[in-house]
Amino acid sequence: MLQTNYQEALAHPIFKTIQQAAKELQLDTYVIGGFVRDFILKRGSAKDIDIVAIGSGIALAEKVASLLPNQPKVQVFKTYGTAMLRTEDIEVEFVGARKESYTKDSRNPIVENGSLQDDQNRRDFTINALAICLNEDRFGELLDPFNGIAHLKEQIIKTPLEPSITYSDDPLRMMRAIRFATQLDFKIELESLQAITKNKDRIKIITKERIVDELNKIMMSPKPSIGFLLLEQTGLLSYILPELTALKGVEEVEGQKHKDNFYHTLEVVDNIALNTNNLWLRWAALLHDIGKAPTKKFSKKVGWTFHGHEFVGSKMVYKLFKRLKMPLNEKMKFVQKMVLMSSRPIVLAQEVTDSAVRRLVFDAGEYVEDLMTLCEADITTKNPKKFKRYHNNFKLVRNKIVEVEERDRIRDFQPPVSGEEIMEAFNIKPCREIGIIKEAIKEAILEGEIANDYEEAKELMLKKGKELGLTIT
Ligand code: ATP
Repeated sequence: MLQTNYQEALAHPIFKTIQQAAKELQLDTYVIGGFVRDFILKRGSAKDIDIVAIGSGIALAEKVASLLPNQPKVQVFKTYGTAMLRTEDIEVEFVGARKESYTKDSRNPIVENGSLQDDQNRRDFTINALAICLNEDRFGELLDPFNGIAHLKEQIIKTPLEPSITYSDDPLRMMRAIRFATQLDFKIELESLQAITKNKDRIKIITKERIVDELNKIMMSPKPSIGFLLLEQTGLLSYILPELTALKGVEEVEGQKHKDNFYHTLEVVDNIALNTNNLWLRWAALLHDIGKAPTKKFSKKVGWTFHGHEFVGSKMVYKLFKRLKMPLNEKMKFVQKMVLMSSRPIVLAQEVTDSAVRRLVFDAGEYVEDLMTLCEADITTKNPKKFKRYHNNFKLVRNKIVEVEERDRIRDFQPPVSGEEIMEAFNIKPCREIGIIKEAIKEAILEGEIANDYEEAKELMLKKGKELGLTIT
């Protein structure tokens, strides 16, 4: 059920202030776009408000600011003819109604002043062109020239003007259409889908940053697979993430098949979306199998294998992040680590031993829970018995992690005996033997032969030193 009392959308006191300012300047003024759409869909009240004035948006913004008790600063973007102010918890953007025309090589249009109708024409989708009047005599009146309300009801994404022109003018709209379809769980009308498919190579004129912004919004949606399937279906995915399209398909040799790793990946992403809002963990789910395309092999003896795909995949993560101008910082390293370790708990789930769990915690460190969340999402078997068994095994692993942690404190492992202490005990200078002793202590702790404890580690140090021919001072 949609919200139909449009006056209610204007309950925030800022709208009365804008009304007052519009009256003083004698400007027709409307709230437009995402705020109106989300109000009607009851998606909670948005914190971003877009205001369009038939006249100067900048003058209106300045007037509004002067009427507000705290007189906020107005940020003016002269080149775009827009102005923005923040008050309390909301951000209000003002623009003068405009008419746009495009050239082939840029998504930045030539802009002229226009009417409300011109301004609504330039909007990307009918559901984003809805406007509510703020002037006193028409306060709360809805202007819906393209049947946006009907499309909200039908849950469909359509463009106000001819789809092919809309997408070709500004190819970012192709990503936006798919992003809105994913966020809202709407369908994209057929003509739009065809137009996106036709114009897919125009995506090249869009900056990587903007593409990634949209990808991240798809990724943070409740069911990201909707977006990735549309990206694939329209052909955009092979421009943006060819590593994923390379995972498509099932090959069969001598009656042996492997699973379609593309669809499997999408299932994993949808699964993980139910359990985490960590964007980077969701990225890890999306990329966890990308190494499978370049490592795929068939042999008569063992059938299909993907040896070393985790390592190859983690290297590919760097290249992919670099190409898409994504951050090459600890976020990327986190995704790499998850991809690299993505098969580790699976091996563990066959047999849960203390030492294997200690090693897992040692290698994954602070990210061990994230790794478990990834591996649980990776269970996509359609066999209910296996599904239950794998999940139960992972529960055991999780319990063991807690148990081993309490006892051995492996996370953020610090060697209980330092290098200096070893040098002092045997009166030696920095040398290879110190490393050997430290490694032996670490191994003994991970194997459970000694506790993660100073006294036991020291005892082992003395024993190892002796074996290496060192003398105690
Ligand atoms: P969200 O806040 O979820 O991204 P939104 O609809 O508010 O949704 P914005 O990017 O803030 O998205 O854009 C505000 C409005 O500006 C949109 O509702 C739409 O009317 C218009 N708009 C934004 N980008 C485009 C575009 N590339 N082409 C045409 N109109 C656009």
